[in-house]
Amino acid sequence: MIFSEIESGQSFEGNSIPAFKTDIKAPKYLYLIGGVHGDEVEGVYVLKELFQWLKLEHSLKDLPMIVIPILNVDGYRAQTRVNAHQVDLNRNLPTKDWTGVHTQAKYNPGSKAMSEPENQYLVKLMDKYKPGLIISFHTWKPILNYNGNSKDVADYLSQFNKYETASDIGYPTPGSLGTFAVEKYNSPVLTFECPELKKHRESLKEIWLENEEGLKNFFQTDLVWEKLK
Ligand SMILES: [Zn+2]
Repeated sequence: MIFSEIESGQSFEGNSIPAFKTDIKAPKYLYLIGGVHGDEVEGVYVLKELFQWLKLEHSLKDLPMIVIPILNVDGYRAQTRVNAHQVDLNRNLPTKDWTGVHTQAKYNPGSKAMSEPENQYLVKLMDKYKPGLIISFHTWKPILNYNGNSKDVADYLSQFNKYETASDIGYPTPGSLGTFAVEKYNSPVLTFECPELKKHRESLKEIWLENEEGLKNFFQTDLVWEKLK
């Protein structure tokens, strides 16, 4: 597929947030997002490998798609979960349940919902190119956490990587993308939690390899098209 770079965003520190899009007009787009949490290099790596393949694979029918390899570019450089303003971007989106109350600094939701430039940029993009399915790559324990109508996507991928699937990860996540995109765009979200390096796996390559077949096959299923109708 052929991707072009579109208008980039700006991080809290003023660094560029690159984003890429296929040249297709459609009512809904598939979003692939990496690095919402800057220290989750496993998720960033899997998306990097997948994006590389998508760019080289010309036999695929072009999908309306947006790829943001690393949303939290400052956090990625600093190897922190939070952005340079010390905010957890996945607690900062304007959901109905957004709250400023938090128990740990790593979940700091910001002074108000959508206070952070990274999220302002993401929402601006999604207002312009409506999401039909979002896959956001993170790291935690291997789990495919689905919000909205994406249990089928989680189940499909789980056949290959054998990760657990769940609609609920056991604790509330106000201000998260999973909650926000379902509320605002009625778009399902798959929060793709990769296993952790050292703790669960020996190398980044190993994490990619256990996901390669499922992710590549996914782009050739009808499942992906159904979400973009
Ligand atoms: Zn994360």
